[in-house]
Amino acid sequence: MDACIDVMASALASLARGDAVLPLRTVILVPNTTDAFATMPGYLKMRRPGDSSGGAAPTERSETVVGAKVITVFPGNHGTAFDSHQGAVLLFDPDNGSLAAVLDATPVTMIRTAAVSAVATRLLARETASSLAIIGAGVQAHAHLEAMCAVRPIRTLRVWSRSPENAQRLVESARDRFQLDASIATSGPDAVRDAEIICTTTSAREPVLFGEWLSPGTHINAIGASQASAREVDSDTVVRSRLYVDRRESALKEPGDILVPLHDGDIGPEHIVGEIGELLIGRVGGRRDANEITLFKSLGLAIEDLAASAYVYEQAVSTGAGVRVELGGARLAAH
Ligand code: NDP
Repeated sequence: MDACIDVMASALASLARGDAVLPLRTVILVPNTTDAFATMPGYLKMRRPGDSSGGAAPTERSETVVGAKVITVFPGNHGTAFDSHQGAVLLFDPDNGSLAAVLDATPVTMIRTAAVSAVATRLLARETASSLAIIGAGVQAHAHLEAMCAVRPIRTLRVWSRSPENAQRLVESARDRFQLDASIATSGPDAVRDAEIICTTTSAREPVLFGEWLSPGTHINAIGASQASAREVDSDTVVRSRLYVDRRESALKEPGDILVPLHDGDIGPEHIVGEIGELLIGRVGGRRDANEITLFKSLGLAIEDLAASAYVYEQAVSTGAGVRVELGGARLAAH
């Protein structure tokens, strides 16, 4: 998680500098279901911290990543043997175009999404924020627990989720892994009352977080709804918040969380203060005082998957992990 948080910060800053080619993802909805198939291509030239071992001054190195994530999102898989997000990340060699690596998209998606929220939280939440509320108790809820603990001195956790068994699993993990004072809330308002950080991590299609529940100074990571027909937070939450996104273009086209208040005239496009990458490179400002409510609406970007996968690939090559497969391009070139 710690490594991924740094890689995500580098990737988002590079995006903000204009060093990425990132079309909107293509999503096919399976008719008469809430299931989706998405392709997410991207190109990123990323500045990464170089080797500073041996007392050498820290250097920066440039890394080019090109490829795509191909993924299914089947929300009904939650609680079955199958994850709700399955697929592959394909990394291509930027010099000769050959397929360099195929990675399992499930863990990449799990970790990189929470790591991006951690980057946003590090930039936007109050430095001393110690009370966390998580709504939802699936894969992302667990990943966000770890990510929030990595960037803020979290001491308490309140969980609200539809299924008490899943909420209980998250509470137990918070106690065992992070020694938190963790408990199940009886309702959404009960969970978020006095929370300094709130993460909404559900596949709900109607809001599960309402502006009237929020305390001054809260930071929210809303990572669930990514389609125009789905919302996790109501319009009041968006209106009351200083709003940040992973990418403006996606935020103005994809999520009901932003499209509904835009359509109703509750906000204009300028309500988006900036992208997390713009915040990282100092192009836009962050929280202005301790009482402001900040909201990060996350949609997930291909460059996040590619940057995270490039890091994993690099580690795999250096440690000899993974399986080598010979494909046609290299074999034919040898003849
Ligand atoms: P899971 O399937 O593991 O968990 C889904 C969670 O949502 C469960 O806790 C479930 O509750 C809860 N839920 C489902 N429907 C409702 C509802 N109507 N009201 C309240 N809670 C509900 O999914 P993930 O954790 O992997 O993903 C969560 C969300 O985040 C999804 O919408 C997913 O598409 C999105 N996502 C976003 C990413 C990004 O980059 N922004 C990346 C990855 C995922 P219960 O436990 O009771 O079943």
